[in-house]
Amino acid sequence: MFGFKTWRRKRWAGQSFPESWQAVLLRNVPYVSHLPAELQEKLQGLVQVFLHEKHFEGCAGLEMTDEIRVTIAAQASILLLGIEDLTYFYNDLRSVLVYPEPYVVKIKNRHSSFFVQEGFQQRRGEAWERGHVVLAWDEVRKGASDIHDGENLVFHEFAHQLDYEYGATDQIEQDHDESHYLSWARVVGGEYQKFLHAIEQNQQTLIDAYGATSPAEFFAVITEAFFEKPVELRHKHPELYRQLQEFYRQDPASYLSA
Ligand SMILES: [Zn+2]
Repeated sequence: MFGFKTWRRKRWAGQSFPESWQAVLLRNVPYVSHLPAELQEKLQGLVQVFLHEKHFEGCAGLEMTDEIRVTIAAQASILLLGIEDLTYFYNDLRSVLVYPEPYVVKIKNRHSSFFVQEGFQQRRGEAWERGHVVLAWDEVRKGASDIHDGENLVFHEFAHQLDYEYGATDQIEQDHDESHYLSWARVVGGEYQKFLHAIEQNQQTLIDAYGATSPAEFFAVITEAFFEKPVELRHKHPELYRQLQEFYRQDPASYLSA
């Protein structure tokens, strides 16, 4: 069955890329024009797979269009440019829900069995373990328009999706003195601790301070930095850069200069 899925993805990836989609990429996803030609071509195939396989839904009155679908699919697919075949393609992800702008959710915090705090929170996006990513369209566009500011909502939420599926941050909070531990956990965990310390000291950091929330958020914001500020990240955090380079099997510093 798995073989069939991959076979189908290969067929989709080989379909020709509509000109109207190409125009959307040019207009909304400037990142693409920085990719080397062979990666641009690969990206087109990945976008085809994404759009065939994942369901998109407009929420709060947003009408779903090809422009929205292509803009999101292209950025989500940039994270996958390093994959060698199509056996993996956000396999747990089923649908992408899109709101026109940041949306409000009702939250409940259970402090004890007697005290539950309820409130409302505004969100730009989120990734759920059950196979949904939720995004605010105006934030998607904003994130895509500046490719050097280290902020990209789609990269952020799809990094969470990868994290769920790969367990990328499962181990990074543990103490890893033993040499047999994966260098991923050692390096990323060590960088996370240093980062927490720098934030506590109110130091300026290249990595977004929001990453101090949790290891999962740290992974999401270092992904944003890796793709949008690769040269600076490699300069300031060479070990971390190398780990991300292995994880994503890509070297954004080679095509995205500062
Ligand atoms: Zn997040």
